[in-house]
Amino acid sequence: MLDILKPKKFVESIFDIDFEDLYKRGYRGIIFDLDNTIVPWNGNELDPKTRDLIENIKKIGFKVVILSNNWSQKRVKYFSKIMKLPALGSAFKPRVRSFKKAMELMDTEPTNTLVVGDRILTDIFGGNKIGMYTILVAPIDKNEIWIKKWTVRKLENWLLDLWIKRGEITKGE
Ligand SMILES: [Mg+2]
Repeated sequence: MLDILKPKKFVESIFDIDFEDLYKRGYRGIIFDLDNTIVPWNGNELDPKTRDLIENIKKIGFKVVILSNNWSQKRVKYFSKIMKLPALGSAFKPRVRSFKKAMELMDTEPTNTLVVGDRILTDIFGGNKIGMYTILVAPIDKNEIWIKKWTVRKLENWLLDLWIKRGEITKGE
């Protein structure tokens, strides 16, 4: 049901993704969402553990781009600088254009590019539209009121629960 919205994989966090295995399987580029995927929605600091993971991902050989719907260019540029990664803000995900722009920066194709994000209707939908391998992560700030109460989020959580219940996706590796 609603396969265009369904992630290929669902994990608790970016730390549960086996990037080495994905590299071995031929993937070369990663499009990361920013807020609630790499950093807390309101946070301005990069967790040292996250910084290490990003460094490790680069060492494996991946090209990486941050793709964010956040309107604050200042915030997006700040994280781009401290992670030493190219970043595109105001991306209007799920619009395909920004995903294509990110691939241009990495010189990759949909077939060897991963999308990692916490939102079904933006990150996953956008990635699926052009045939990328999509990985949904649980949001970092699970208890923020807007995640529990916001109607769009409720719909996303409902879909996720349904897929898990039906065994259409499983959590983890
Ligand atoms: Mg997000």
